[in-house]
Amino acid sequence: MDTSIFSIKFSCYYNRCNSFCCRGEDGIGAPLFRKEVILWDNIYYKILEFLPEEKKRIVEFNKGITCSGDKCYTFVDKYGECIFLIRDSNGLYRCAFQRAYEEGVIDFPKPLSCRLFPLRIIEAYRNKYLKFVFYRECRLALNSDIYLVDFLKEPIKEIFSEEGFQLFMKYFDLYKNKDKNSPTSK
Ligand code: SF4
Repeated sequence: MDTSIFSIKFSCYYNRCNSFCCRGEDGIGAPLFRKEVILWDNIYYKILEFLPEEKKRIVEFNKGITCSGDKCYTFVDKYGECIFLIRDSNGLYRCAFQRAYEEGVIDFPKPLSCRLFPLRIIEAYRNKYLKFVFYRECRLALNSDIYLVDFLKEPIKEIFSEEGFQLFMKYFDLYKNKDKNSPTSK
């Protein structure tokens, strides 16, 4: 288990970053989990009504995903935006999945990798670990008093088995207690 993420304090300032993480700095969309790809045909068409015409046409054509081998991602348009990123009436960016979820149209809040961000699951030497990905637009989020792991506890829970999650949280609680009692934290 890589415990380097335990020390990070982070909570999103959505109104300040305006969903920068959905605007593909690296030109790659949100990674999709296998179980999401399997369910995709039951989800994507339900949010077409939330998309502007140009994006709607693209999603009708390619379902809003792109795959390479067994890895699939949300599609990124020519402006570098996730195809499911929309603007509300105030010009603020929003996720179409999230909006449809809040309106009770779908029971899929948005892809798990989006809810996990800025953590990404990295595979190396047959192991998987959680890596913190830093975007400069996230710097305000680092001023938080909240531990990143607490902030993302619910999505983190979804990537572990029940037993694995208990173990992960046990190590995290040990870290927090040690951090609280360290001389530099006083
Ligand atoms: S699916 Fe939604 S949250 Fe995820 S990158 Fe696209 S717009 Fe952002």
